[in-house]
Amino acid sequence: MYQFVIYLLYFTIAGMFVVSYFSLNKWKSRLHTYLFFSTIANLVYNTGYLLELTSRDQESYVAALKMGYLGRVWVGFALVLFIAELCEVYIPEFFKIIAGITHVIIYFSILTIEHNDLYYNYMEFAMDGDFPTLIHTGGFLYYVQTVLNLIYLIIGWVVISRALMKEKQSVVRQKYLIMAMAIFAIGSTYLIYFFKLIPLARKFDVMIIGYAICTVLMLVAIIRYGMLDATTAAKNYVVDELSEAIIVVDPEDNITYFNKPASEMFPLLDNSKRDKETDGALIEDLKGMVGSGIPVNRNNRIYTARANGLMTDGTNVGTLYSFSDDSESYRYMEELKAQKKKADDANQAKTQFLANMSHEIRTPINGIMGFNEMIISECDDIINENGNKDPSLKESLDNINEYAGNIQNAGVSLLSIINDILDISKIEAGRMDIVNESYELGPMLGEVSNIIFIKAQEKGLSFVADIDETLPNRLYGDMVRIRQIITNILSNAVKYTDKGNIWMVVRGKPLVKDAEKMIILKIEIRDTGIGIRDEDREKLFSKFQRLDMKHNSTVEGTGLGLAITEQLLTMMGGTISVESKYGFGSVFRIELPQKVISEETVGGIKRDYGNYSPKTKTNKVLFKAPDAKILIVDDTEMNLMVTRGILKKTEMKIDAAGGGKEALEYTNKETYDLILMDQRMPGMDGTEALNHIREQEGGMNLDTPVICMTADAIIGARERYIKEGFTDYISKPFNSAELEKKIAQYLPPEKLIRD
Ligand code: ADP
Repeated sequence: MYQFVIYLLYFTIAGMFVVSYFSLNKWKSRLHTYLFFSTIANLVYNTGYLLELTSRDQESYVAALKMGYLGRVWVGFALVLFIAELCEVYIPEFFKIIAGITHVIIYFSILTIEHNDLYYNYMEFAMDGDFPTLIHTGGFLYYVQTVLNLIYLIIGWVVISRALMKEKQSVVRQKYLIMAMAIFAIGSTYLIYFFKLIPLARKFDVMIIGYAICTVLMLVAIIRYGMLDATTAAKNYVVDELSEAIIVVDPEDNITYFNKPASEMFPLLDNSKRDKETDGALIEDLKGMVGSGIPVNRNNRIYTARANGLMTDGTNVGTLYSFSDDSESYRYMEELKAQKKKADDANQAKTQFLANMSHEIRTPINGIMGFNEMIISECDDIINENGNKDPSLKESLDNINEYAGNIQNAGVSLLSIINDILDISKIEAGRMDIVNESYELGPMLGEVSNIIFIKAQEKGLSFVADIDETLPNRLYGDMVRIRQIITNILSNAVKYTDKGNIWMVVRGKPLVKDAEKMIILKIEIRDTGIGIRDEDREKLFSKFQRLDMKHNSTVEGTGLGLAITEQLLTMMGGTISVESKYGFGSVFRIELPQKVISEETVGGIKRDYGNYSPKTKTNKVLFKAPDAKILIVDDTEMNLMVTRGILKKTEMKIDAAGGGKEALEYTNKETYDLILMDQRMPGMDGTEALNHIREQEGGMNLDTPVICMTADAIIGARERYIKEGFTDYISKPFNSAELEKKIAQYLPPEKLIRD
């Protein structure tokens, strides 16, 4: 028996050598470290025990005991560390430290066993047949060591059985199963040894049988099932070397795994004072970081937090929190954002500048055109009175009239350029509104046709408008913008055609959308003009792009019209396309969905082009109203003079106020038939003055119509001003006919004298 035990020990020691060789050879991760620790502890323990069994007196026995315990105190602890690592279970750092210190103390008590009662308080050497034994009674630390060993056994057992239950992969299960058997072998021999369950247990430490079995099983696990294979080691290695921090949390909110970057990012993970509470707080933090979606800033690096549910066969087995180091991309994005903001700000400043400039320019043009109109009007008056009597005077006046007419045309062009700039600025600033309301298609198309007919006629071109008479007349949409689009394409057709014809064909395709009756207006505008080169086609709708400048250098334009047209159409759900043959002409096709309001059709559109009289030649006053009293409010002296001048022939009594405050003084003293109010004024603006007038005590002008005069937002602003309380709106610059028409609309009819 004795010999058998001795050989068993030799076998175990040799086996441990092989295991430690494998663990050293393949050393790559913590798993290998723990295995190495465990086998070395066993090796020392078994070697010491071998020496104990070969000693023949107390002194050599105790010396062997001291050596054996150098390994023995660590055996259980090392095995637990190894199993926990194998099963990827986290053992708190503080537990490791406390256990480590305890074992060191126990070992010191054994080293000095002859001089203290801490481990054995009594010992006596004796021979039991061939077996040398040390009869002893345990001291305090002996029981501590025993309890600890029991705890290790229980922990090892729980860890491995939980892992076995959770694990679905058969290869991994085999590994766990072998380790479970190893623990069972050690555990059962430990119990036999401790409770002396068999007589043999009195003779020698039967646990060495358990350790021998454990060694064999470990060798099987390593050689047969690749327990220490490169893949497992590599996985751990790679996970540790990732720049991504990884933390695994099980469904019971235990942190079961984290890699090196995670512990650098959250030093708490490596903290020995970690417990369930601190872990819980950390997990809450992790959840918060993922939930908020805000990048996490740690150690001067920026991380993106993610959480992935870990599923095995449809069951939730935990959550993997990962933090990828995206510092570079975040910094790059920040830079891009800053650059974009700079560009946006610059663009915004440009847009604002254009809008302000256009607005500012409209005011002096108002003056120029107003005074110019007064010149034309006065000339006409003098010609009418004495023209025939004095031919040389008539000639001079005719010349002046012609020059003034040219100023008028130049003013109109300038205005249209400014309007385009204002429109594009508004579109770019996202402030362009589409104002939908009910409108009549027929009259709108008639009006546009009239204007184009005149323009075409002036250039010697023919213009034909072919409008389907069965088109519905009452539609719902932004008529002002639609008119702007059609006028723009038609004006281009005239501008870029030197001879031939211009056609406008308007058709419709009914459709029902969301139970609403709709029509797709199909407008085709065709010319026999210079055409557009294929390669220029894509630049056509870009802003400030003018094509074929060799031929078009004398044609007025900004290159904004088509850009605005396309943007407006997109805003209204429409499209525009072009077909063109360079040198032969172009076709622009617009498709625009509109809501149909009634069945009434447009019918034959009256094309009394011949009766159309250009506004520039208007000299006849629309009405006279010597009994009417109006108030004009404007902070610009020149505007006051122009408006007064334009209205001189109406013979109305006109008061002029230079600002909101002054206007209130007038309205306090006098009841007016009408007030013309400038909007933009320093101090009190038009809207404010209007509100005060409406609330004035005594209320002399509570119901007086107030018309807003402004250079602001040429189109679409009417609704806004009416909403603010104005009776109507007139945009500057205006000519006499427009102003007279607007005033006549609101003066008491009994005061109006028409020719
Ligand atoms: P603008 O007419 O003010 O220059 P647009 O945006 O309306 O600006 O047009 C852009 C360019 O497209 C014009 O400069 C012209 O070269 C070309 N273009 C537009 N319409 C026609 C047309 N009917 N025939 C030939 N070229 C055209």
